[in-house]
Amino acid sequence: MRPATEGWTQARDTGGRPLLQFDAPKRGKPPVHWADLTPEERVAKAESLGLPRFRAKQLSAHYFGHYADDPALMTDLPRAGREELVAALLPPLLTPVRQLRTDDGATIKFLWRLHDGALIESVLMRYPGRITLCISSQAGCGMNCPFCATGQAGLTRNLSAAEIVAQVVAANAVIRAGGIAPAAVSTALVPGSSLPPSAFDVEPESDPAEDDAVPAHHRVNNIVFMGMGEPLANYGRVMQAIRVMLAPQPDGLGMSARGITVSSVGLAPAIRRLADEGLPLTFALSLHAPDDELRDDLIPINDRWKVDEALDAARHYFETTGRRVSIEYALIKDMNDHAWRADLLAEKLNARGRGWAHVNPIPLNPTPGSIWTASDREHTREFLRRLIAAGVPATLRDTRGKEIDGACGQLAAATAD
Ligand code: SAH
Repeated sequence: MRPATEGWTQARDTGGRPLLQFDAPKRGKPPVHWADLTPEERVAKAESLGLPRFRAKQLSAHYFGHYADDPALMTDLPRAGREELVAALLPPLLTPVRQLRTDDGATIKFLWRLHDGALIESVLMRYPGRITLCISSQAGCGMNCPFCATGQAGLTRNLSAAEIVAQVVAANAVIRAGGIAPAAVSTALVPGSSLPPSAFDVEPESDPAEDDAVPAHHRVNNIVFMGMGEPLANYGRVMQAIRVMLAPQPDGLGMSARGITVSSVGLAPAIRRLADEGLPLTFALSLHAPDDELRDDLIPINDRWKVDEALDAARHYFETTGRRVSIEYALIKDMNDHAWRADLLAEKLNARGRGWAHVNPIPLNPTPGSIWTASDREHTREFLRRLIAAGVPATLRDTRGKEIDGACGQLAAATAD
Protein backbone atom coordinates (compact mmCIF):
# COMPACT_ATOMS: atom_id res chain seq x y z
CA MET A 1 0.00 0.00 0.00
CA ARG A 2 1.26 3.51 -0.79
CA PRO A 3 0.59 6.52 1.37
CA ALA A 4 -2.34 8.55 0.10
CA THR A 5 -4.73 11.08 1.48
CA GLU A 6 -8.48 11.15 1.51
CA GLY A 7 -10.80 13.98 2.47
CA TRP A 8 -8.09 16.60 1.92
CA THR A 9 -5.53 17.45 -0.74
CA GLN A 10 -1.89 17.51 0.15
CA ALA A 11 -0.32 20.77 -1.06
CA ARG A 12 2.28 20.19 -3.80
CA ASP A 13 5.20 22.23 -5.05
CA THR A 14 5.81 23.01 -8.72
CA GLY A 15 7.70 19.73 -9.11
CA GLY A 16 4.70 17.75 -7.85
CA ARG A 17 6.33 16.87 -4.50
CA PRO A 18 4.54 17.54 -1.20
CA LEU A 19 5.09 21.21 -0.40
CA LEU A 20 7.52 21.97 2.43
CA GLN A 21 7.18 25.34 4.13
CA PHE A 22 10.01 26.83 6.13
CA ASP A 23 8.89 30.45 5.91
CA ALA A 24 5.41 31.46 6.86
CA PRO A 25 3.55 34.36 5.28
CA LYS A 26 4.49 37.62 6.98
CA ARG A 27 2.14 38.55 9.81
CA GLY A 28 2.21 41.10 12.60
CA LYS A 29 4.65 40.12 15.32
CA PRO A 30 3.23 39.17 18.72
CA PRO A 31 3.83 41.83 21.39
CA VAL A 32 7.18 41.56 23.15
CA HIS A 33 6.62 39.93 26.53
CA TRP A 34 8.67 39.60 29.70
CA ALA A 35 9.34 35.96 28.78
CA ASP A 36 10.97 37.04 25.49
CA LEU A 37 13.69 38.86 27.43
CA THR A 38 16.83 37.59 29.15
CA PRO A 39 17.20 38.40 32.88
CA GLU A 40 19.63 41.22 31.93
CA GLU A 41 17.21 42.63 29.37
CA ARG A 42 14.45 42.59 32.00
CA VAL A 43 16.52 44.64 34.39
CA ALA A 44 17.38 47.09 31.60
CA LYS A 45 13.70 47.29 30.70
CA ALA A 46 12.69 48.02 34.30
CA GLU A 47 15.37 50.70 34.57
CA SER A 48 14.31 52.26 31.28
CA LEU A 49 10.85 52.69 32.81
CA GLY A 50 12.38 54.43 35.82
CA LEU A 51 11.86 51.44 38.13
CA PRO A 52 14.42 50.09 40.60
CA ARG A 53 16.18 46.88 39.48
CA PHE A 54 14.46 44.70 42.08
CA ARG A 55 11.11 45.26 40.38
CA ALA A 56 12.33 42.99 37.59
CA LYS A 57 12.79 40.10 40.03
CA GLN A 58 9.37 40.78 41.55
CA LEU A 59 7.65 40.64 38.18
CA SER A 60 9.53 37.47 37.26
CA ALA A 61 8.55 35.85 40.55
CA HIS A 62 4.89 36.59 39.83
CA TYR A 63 4.97 35.21 36.32
CA PHE A 64 7.44 32.30 36.48
CA GLY A 65 6.91 31.38 40.13
CA HIS A 66 3.22 32.00 40.70
CA TYR A 67 1.94 31.93 37.11
CA ALA A 68 0.19 35.21 37.73
CA ASP A 69 -0.28 37.99 35.22
CA ASP A 70 -3.13 39.69 37.06
CA PRO A 71 -1.99 43.03 38.50
CA ALA A 72 -4.53 42.70 41.33
CA LEU A 73 -2.42 39.85 42.74
CA MET A 74 0.86 41.80 42.55
CA THR A 75 0.42 43.67 45.81
CA ASP A 76 4.16 44.14 46.26
CA LEU A 77 4.21 46.52 43.29
CA PRO A 78 3.25 50.14 43.89
CA ARG A 79 -0.46 50.58 43.30
CA ALA A 80 -0.05 53.67 41.13
CA GLY A 81 0.61 52.65 37.54
CA ARG A 82 0.58 48.93 38.36
CA GLU A 83 -2.03 47.99 35.79
CA GLU A 84 -0.32 49.90 32.99
CA LEU A 85 3.02 48.41 33.91
CA VAL A 86 1.74 44.84 33.85
CA ALA A 87 -0.18 45.45 30.62
CA ALA A 88 3.00 46.72 28.97
CA LEU A 89 5.40 44.07 30.26
CA LEU A 90 3.14 41.01 30.48
CA PRO A 91 0.73 41.55 27.58
CA PRO A 92 -1.77 38.71 27.27
CA LEU A 93 -0.53 36.32 24.56
CA LEU A 94 -2.96 33.41 24.80
CA THR A 95 -6.71 33.91 24.89
CA PRO A 96 -8.56 30.78 25.98
CA VAL A 97 -11.00 29.56 23.36
CA ARG A 98 -11.85 26.14 24.72
CA GLN A 99 -10.71 23.49 27.17
CA LEU A 100 -11.63 19.86 26.62
CA ARG A 101 -11.24 17.30 29.39
CA THR A 102 -11.27 13.53 29.26
CA ASP A 103 -13.91 11.85 31.41
CA ASP A 104 -11.37 10.98 34.09
CA GLY A 105 -10.18 14.60 34.13
CA ALA A 106 -6.49 13.59 33.88
CA THR A 107 -6.04 14.98 30.34
CA ILE A 108 -6.95 18.49 29.22
CA LYS A 109 -6.63 19.91 25.73
CA PHE A 110 -6.34 23.70 25.53
CA LEU A 111 -7.21 25.66 22.43
CA TRP A 112 -5.66 29.15 22.46
CA ARG A 113 -6.10 32.15 20.20
CA LEU A 114 -3.01 34.27 19.59
CA HIS A 115 -2.96 38.06 19.14
CA ASP A 116 -3.45 37.76 15.36
CA GLY A 117 -6.22 35.17 15.49
CA ALA A 118 -3.94 32.17 14.86
CA LEU A 119 -4.94 29.10 16.89
CA ILE A 120 -2.74 26.66 18.73
CA GLU A 121 -3.29 23.73 21.06
CA SER A 122 -1.49 22.20 24.01
CA VAL A 123 -2.32 19.02 25.92
CA LEU A 124 -1.83 18.54 29.65
CA MET A 125 -1.55 14.98 30.99
CA ARG A 126 -1.25 13.91 34.57
CA TYR A 127 0.51 10.63 35.31
CA PRO A 128 1.44 9.13 38.65
CA GLY A 129 4.47 11.17 39.72
CA ARG A 130 4.63 13.27 36.59
CA ILE A 131 2.75 16.03 34.82
CA THR A 132 3.42 16.30 31.09
CA LEU A 133 2.54 19.17 28.79
CA CYS A 134 2.60 18.66 25.04
CA ILE A 135 3.24 22.10 23.54
CA SER A 136 3.16 23.75 20.13
CA SER A 137 6.15 25.50 18.59
CA GLN A 138 4.36 26.83 15.51
CA ALA A 139 0.79 27.67 14.52
CA GLY A 140 0.21 24.93 11.96
CA CYS A 141 3.14 23.08 10.46
CA GLY A 142 4.99 23.22 7.15
CA MET A 143 6.20 19.63 7.11
CA ASN A 144 3.11 18.25 5.34
CA CYS A 145 3.18 14.69 6.72
CA PRO A 146 0.10 13.05 5.20
CA PHE A 147 -0.93 11.14 8.35
CA CYS A 148 -0.83 14.13 10.71
CA ALA A 149 -3.76 16.50 11.18
CA THR A 150 -1.59 19.53 11.92
CA GLY A 151 0.22 19.44 8.60
CA GLN A 152 -2.94 19.51 6.55
CA ALA A 153 -3.52 23.26 6.78
CA GLY A 154 0.14 24.21 6.34
CA LEU A 155 2.18 26.67 8.34
CA THR A 156 0.51 29.79 9.72
CA ARG A 157 3.52 31.17 11.57
CA ASN A 158 6.30 30.56 14.06
CA LEU A 159 5.49 31.17 17.71
CA SER A 160 7.51 33.66 19.72
CA ALA A 161 9.52 32.37 22.67
CA ALA A 162 7.00 33.91 25.07
CA GLU A 163 4.07 32.27 23.26
CA ILE A 164 5.79 28.93 23.80
CA VAL A 165 6.56 29.62 27.47
CA ALA A 166 3.05 31.01 28.06
CA GLN A 167 1.56 27.58 27.29
CA VAL A 168 3.51 26.15 30.23
CA VAL A 169 2.65 29.04 32.54
CA ALA A 170 -1.05 28.71 31.67
CA ALA A 171 -1.02 24.96 32.32
CA ASN A 172 0.76 25.52 35.64
CA ALA A 173 -1.92 28.01 36.64
CA VAL A 174 -4.61 25.42 35.94
CA ILE A 175 -2.77 22.74 37.94
CA ARG A 176 -2.23 25.13 40.79
CA ALA A 177 -5.93 25.91 40.91
CA GLY A 178 -6.63 22.17 41.21
CA GLY A 179 -7.90 21.97 37.64
CA ILE A 180 -6.51 18.55 36.73
CA ALA A 181 -7.47 15.26 38.34
CA PRO A 182 -4.92 12.74 39.62
CA ALA A 183 -3.98 10.11 37.06
CA ALA A 184 -6.03 6.99 36.92
CA VAL A 185 -4.12 3.84 35.97
CA SER A 186 -5.40 2.86 32.58
CA THR A 187 -4.90 -0.43 30.83
CA ALA A 188 -3.68 -0.60 27.27
CA LEU A 189 -2.11 -3.04 24.92
CA VAL A 190 1.41 -3.56 26.17
CA PRO A 191 3.18 -6.79 25.36
CA GLY A 192 4.47 -8.50 28.44
CA SER A 193 3.00 -6.05 30.90
CA SER A 194 -0.37 -5.18 32.31
CA LEU A 195 0.70 -1.67 33.22
CA PRO A 196 1.25 0.63 30.26
CA PRO A 197 4.24 2.93 30.17
CA SER A 198 3.22 6.53 29.97
CA ALA A 199 3.35 8.16 26.60
CA PHE A 200 6.51 10.09 27.18
CA ASP A 201 9.18 8.14 28.98
CA VAL A 202 11.79 10.22 30.71
CA GLU A 203 14.27 9.03 33.26
CA PRO A 204 13.09 9.47 36.83
CA GLU A 205 15.10 12.04 38.70
CA SER A 206 14.90 14.59 41.45
CA ASP A 207 13.49 17.94 40.54
CA PRO A 208 15.94 20.80 41.08
CA ALA A 209 13.17 23.28 41.89
CA GLU A 210 11.53 21.05 44.51
CA ASP A 211 11.93 23.62 47.29
CA ASP A 212 10.51 26.54 45.38
CA ALA A 213 7.24 28.31 45.92
CA VAL A 214 5.13 25.82 44.01
CA PRO A 215 6.03 22.17 44.71
CA ALA A 216 7.05 20.04 41.74
CA HIS A 217 3.96 17.88 41.85
CA HIS A 218 1.87 21.01 41.42
CA ARG A 219 3.37 22.04 38.13
CA VAL A 220 4.40 20.71 34.76
CA ASN A 221 7.67 18.78 35.15
CA ASN A 222 7.81 17.19 31.74
CA ILE A 223 7.50 19.03 28.43
CA VAL A 224 7.27 17.47 25.00
CA PHE A 225 7.50 19.55 21.83
CA MET A 226 5.00 17.22 20.21
CA GLY A 227 2.11 19.60 19.74
CA MET A 228 1.66 21.62 16.57
CA GLY A 229 4.68 22.49 14.51
CA GLU A 230 8.20 21.39 13.77
CA PRO A 231 10.33 22.75 16.62
CA LEU A 232 13.60 22.62 14.70
CA ALA A 233 12.07 24.76 11.94
CA ASN A 234 11.61 27.50 14.59
CA TYR A 235 15.00 26.82 16.11
CA GLY A 236 15.96 30.20 17.59
CA ARG A 237 12.71 30.83 19.41
CA VAL A 238 12.38 27.26 20.62
CA MET A 239 15.87 27.47 22.14
CA GLN A 240 15.08 30.85 23.65
CA ALA A 241 11.92 29.37 25.23
CA ILE A 242 13.87 26.34 26.50
CA ARG A 243 16.38 28.63 28.19
CA VAL A 244 13.53 30.34 30.04
CA MET A 245 12.13 26.94 31.07
CA LEU A 246 15.55 25.94 32.40
CA ALA A 247 16.49 29.19 34.16
CA PRO A 248 16.19 28.83 37.95
CA GLN A 249 13.31 30.68 39.54
CA PRO A 250 12.56 33.55 39.65
CA ASP A 251 14.23 34.16 36.27
CA GLY A 252 12.58 31.15 34.64
CA LEU A 253 10.57 28.03 35.33
CA GLY A 254 13.42 26.11 37.01
CA MET A 255 12.81 22.96 34.99
CA SER A 256 15.31 20.22 34.27
CA ALA A 257 16.63 19.70 30.72
CA ARG A 258 16.08 15.96 30.93
CA GLY A 259 12.38 16.60 31.36
CA ILE A 260 12.16 18.48 28.05
CA THR A 261 11.80 16.49 24.83
CA VAL A 262 12.34 18.08 21.42
CA SER A 263 10.75 16.00 18.68
CA SER A 264 11.64 16.43 15.01
CA VAL A 265 10.84 15.02 11.59
CA GLY A 266 14.60 14.88 11.01
CA LEU A 267 16.14 18.21 10.01
CA ALA A 268 19.62 16.72 10.22
CA PRO A 269 21.73 19.91 10.46
CA ALA A 270 19.43 21.32 13.16
CA ILE A 271 19.63 18.05 15.13
CA ARG A 272 23.43 18.40 15.16
CA ARG A 273 23.14 22.03 16.20
CA LEU A 274 20.82 21.01 19.05
CA ALA A 275 23.33 18.37 20.14
CA ASP A 276 26.04 21.01 20.25
CA GLU A 277 24.04 23.32 22.57
CA GLY A 278 25.49 21.37 25.49
CA LEU A 279 22.12 20.79 27.16
CA PRO A 280 20.94 17.31 28.25
CA LEU A 281 17.56 17.70 26.57
CA THR A 282 15.78 14.58 25.37
CA PHE A 283 15.65 14.26 21.59
CA ALA A 284 13.02 12.30 19.68
CA LEU A 285 13.23 11.50 15.97
CA SER A 286 9.93 10.88 14.17
CA LEU A 287 11.19 8.13 11.91
CA HIS A 288 8.07 6.09 11.05
CA ALA A 289 9.87 4.09 8.34
CA PRO A 290 13.39 2.62 8.14
CA ASP A 291 13.56 2.71 4.32
CA ASP A 292 13.70 5.76 2.07
CA GLU A 293 11.19 4.36 -0.37
CA LEU A 294 8.37 4.58 2.17
CA ARG A 295 9.72 7.46 4.24
CA ASP A 296 9.93 9.71 1.16
CA ASP A 297 6.13 9.58 1.03
CA LEU A 298 5.37 9.43 4.75
CA ILE A 299 7.69 12.27 5.83
CA PRO A 300 8.19 14.67 2.90
CA ILE A 301 11.36 16.20 4.45
CA ASN A 302 12.96 12.82 3.76
CA ASP A 303 13.48 14.16 0.25
CA ARG A 304 16.12 16.42 1.71
CA TRP A 305 17.58 14.35 4.56
CA LYS A 306 17.39 10.60 4.08
CA VAL A 307 16.84 7.95 6.75
CA ASP A 308 20.57 7.37 7.16
CA GLU A 309 21.34 11.08 7.50
CA ALA A 310 18.59 11.50 10.11
CA LEU A 311 19.86 8.46 12.03
CA ASP A 312 23.47 9.66 11.83
CA ALA A 313 22.41 13.03 13.23
CA ALA A 314 20.45 11.26 16.01
CA ARG A 315 23.50 9.15 16.83
CA HIS A 316 25.59 12.34 16.96
CA TYR A 317 23.03 13.67 19.44
CA PHE A 318 23.59 10.64 21.67
CA GLU A 319 27.37 10.83 21.41
CA THR A 320 27.47 14.52 22.21
CA THR A 321 24.92 14.66 25.01
CA GLY A 322 25.01 11.10 26.39
CA ARG A 323 21.21 11.19 26.20
CA ARG A 324 19.46 8.16 24.76
CA VAL A 325 17.45 9.16 21.68
CA SER A 326 13.79 8.23 21.23
CA ILE A 327 12.72 6.92 17.85
CA GLU A 328 9.03 7.61 17.20
CA TYR A 329 7.19 5.14 15.03
CA ALA A 330 3.43 5.43 14.43
CA LEU A 331 2.29 1.94 13.47
CA ILE A 332 0.04 2.18 10.43
CA LYS A 333 -1.77 -0.94 9.27
CA ASP A 334 -0.22 -2.51 6.16
CA MET A 335 1.85 0.63 5.60
CA ASN A 336 4.92 0.52 7.82
CA ASP A 337 4.16 -2.29 10.29
CA HIS A 338 5.77 -5.20 8.44
CA ALA A 339 8.07 -7.59 10.26
CA TRP A 340 10.85 -6.90 7.77
CA ARG A 341 10.65 -3.20 8.55
CA ALA A 342 11.11 -3.95 12.26
CA ASP A 343 14.17 -6.03 11.34
CA LEU A 344 15.55 -3.30 9.08
CA LEU A 345 14.99 -0.67 11.77
CA ALA A 346 16.84 -2.80 14.34
CA GLU A 347 19.65 -3.40 11.84
CA LYS A 348 20.06 0.32 11.11
CA LEU A 349 20.06 1.22 14.81
CA ASN A 350 22.46 -1.58 15.79
CA ALA A 351 24.81 -0.64 12.96
CA ARG A 352 25.35 2.65 14.80
CA GLY A 353 25.95 1.11 18.22
CA ARG A 354 23.97 -0.54 21.00
CA GLY A 355 21.61 0.95 23.54
CA TRP A 356 21.79 4.50 22.18
CA ALA A 357 18.20 4.63 20.94
CA HIS A 358 14.87 3.59 22.33
CA VAL A 359 12.02 2.89 19.91
CA ASN A 360 8.58 4.17 20.85
CA PRO A 361 6.01 2.62 18.56
CA ILE A 362 2.55 4.15 18.94
CA PRO A 363 -0.59 2.96 17.21
CA LEU A 364 -1.63 5.55 14.62
CA ASN A 365 -4.34 7.96 15.72
CA PRO A 366 -6.26 8.26 12.48
CA THR A 367 -7.06 11.84 11.48
CA PRO A 368 -10.64 12.64 10.46
CA GLY A 369 -11.46 11.16 7.07
CA SER A 370 -8.27 9.12 7.00
CA ILE A 371 -8.20 5.86 5.12
CA TRP A 372 -5.34 4.69 7.31
CA THR A 373 -5.83 2.80 10.51
CA ALA A 374 -3.71 1.69 13.42
CA SER A 375 -1.92 -1.64 13.16
CA ASP A 376 -3.71 -4.56 14.75
CA ARG A 377 -2.62 -6.21 17.96
CA GLU A 378 -0.76 -9.10 16.29
CA HIS A 379 1.33 -6.90 14.02
CA THR A 380 2.04 -4.50 16.87
CA ARG A 381 3.23 -7.32 19.12
CA GLU A 382 5.37 -8.83 16.40
CA PHE A 383 6.94 -5.47 15.55
CA LEU A 384 7.93 -4.93 19.18
CA ARG A 385 9.02 -8.52 19.65
CA ARG A 386 11.43 -8.31 16.73
CA LEU A 387 12.99 -5.07 17.92
CA ILE A 388 13.45 -6.43 21.43
CA ALA A 389 14.81 -9.75 20.12
CA ALA A 390 17.42 -7.77 18.17
CA GLY A 391 18.48 -6.04 21.39
CA VAL A 392 16.75 -2.73 20.66
CA PRO A 393 14.87 -1.28 23.65
CA ALA A 394 11.27 -0.64 22.63
CA THR A 395 8.08 0.24 24.47
CA LEU A 396 4.65 0.71 23.08
CA ARG A 397 3.39 4.20 23.81
CA ASP A 398 0.09 4.74 25.49
CA THR A 399 -2.19 7.09 23.61
CA ARG A 400 -3.77 9.80 25.70
CA GLY A 401 -6.60 12.13 24.88
CA LYS A 402 -7.96 10.37 21.81
CA GLU A 403 -11.56 11.08 22.72
CA ILE A 404 -10.86 14.83 22.81
CA ASP A 405 -8.77 14.77 19.61
CA GLY A 406 -5.80 15.54 21.79
CA ALA A 407 -3.63 12.59 20.88
CA CYS A 408 -0.46 12.66 18.77
CA GLY A 409 -1.15 13.88 15.28
CA GLN A 410 -4.69 15.02 16.06
CA LEU A 411 -4.02 18.66 16.89
CA ALA A 412 -5.59 20.72 14.15
CA ALA A 413 -7.01 23.78 15.89
CA ALA A 414 -8.82 24.50 12.68
CA THR A 415 -12.08 25.68 14.18
CA ALA A 416 -12.67 27.84 17.17
CA ASP A 417 -16.36 27.06 17.62
N1 SAH B 1 7.01 17.99 14.13
C1 SAH B 1 7.49 17.22 15.23
C2 SAH B 1 6.64 17.29 16.48
C3 SAH B 1 5.13 17.22 16.33
S1 SAH B 1 4.34 15.68 16.09
C4 SAH B 1 7.67 15.79 14.83
O1 SAH B 1 7.17 15.41 13.79
O2 SAH B 1 8.33 15.05 15.55
C5 SAH B 1 4.62 14.67 17.48
C6 SAH B 1 4.64 13.19 17.14
O3 SAH B 1 3.33 12.72 16.76
C7 SAH B 1 5.56 12.87 15.98
O4 SAH B 1 6.31 11.72 16.28
C8 SAH B 1 4.57 12.61 14.88
O5 SAH B 1 5.12 11.86 13.84
C9 SAH B 1 3.47 11.90 15.61
N2 SAH B 1 2.22 11.82 14.88
C10 SAH B 1 1.76 12.66 13.93
N3 SAH B 1 0.56 12.25 13.47
C11 SAH B 1 0.25 11.12 14.14
C12 SAH B 1 -0.86 10.24 14.12
N4 SAH B 1 -1.88 10.47 13.31
N5 SAH B 1 -0.83 9.18 14.96
C13 SAH B 1 0.22 8.97 15.80
N6 SAH B 1 1.29 9.77 15.86
C14 SAH B 1 1.32 10.83 15.04
